[in-house]
Amino acid sequence: MYQLHVVPSSENSKVGACATTYRPVGDSAKGEGTCPSGCPHLGKACYTRKGKTNLWQARSAAKFDSMDKLTSKGAQFIRFLTSGDWFKTDPTAPKGYSTDLEHANDAIRVCRQNPRVTGWSYCHDIQQFVADTGYSYNARNLPANFHLLASCEDLDVKAWAIAHGFKTARVIKTMADKTEDEVFCPYDKAKHLGKKQADIKIRCVNCRLCWEGPRNIAFLEQ
Ligand code: SF4
Repeated sequence: MYQLHVVPSSENSKVGACATTYRPVGDSAKGEGTCPSGCPHLGKACYTRKGKTNLWQARSAAKFDSMDKLTSKGAQFIRFLTSGDWFKTDPTAPKGYSTDLEHANDAIRVCRQNPRVTGWSYCHDIQQFVADTGYSYNARNLPANFHLLASCEDLDVKAWAIAHGFKTARVIKTMADKTEDEVFCPYDKAKHLGKKQADIKIRCVNCRLCWEGPRNIAFLEQ
């Protein structure tokens, strides 16, 4: 059993129409949530601590939904972990947390059993995730319809993730910080350039840069 709030049909202004999950945000080593202790956004300006996402991430701490609820309304896209991450408290692990394998296995199972669904997510400690799965969840072994991006601000970790077949996602402060192998998330770029949210028409389910094409993603800090 693991903490999980499932929304089988949602319409998010950035993501678009899809199913999604929420898990509690906070340092997993301290028992405060499902995030890795080293995430640079923890307790700072993480987008999950704002508005409705913050409400749902807090409520998810007391919910134990079935992962199968994700496909109960015919969703074509699943955004895994609108809030939270892939980890759980583990006092026996060197960092005090490890990958919540029951949760990860279930997410991957849902993708395997629903090959027409496209699932995607991000992980803020991809090295821990891969190590905890005995390298069986190396990017090249995951189902073709389950796309896990390595969120990494550290360029050495980014290089490691790419070498292991992962696409990466990085939060940057200015447009000049983008590297040549990266493409701007068009939604974030439009916001960064001052466009009103109501005027931004791009949605993840149409954009698909996070799981299609060779470029890594650069998110401009908002
Ligand atoms: S790059 Fe595209 S798919 Fe990725 S988060 Fe931005 S809008 Fe969504």
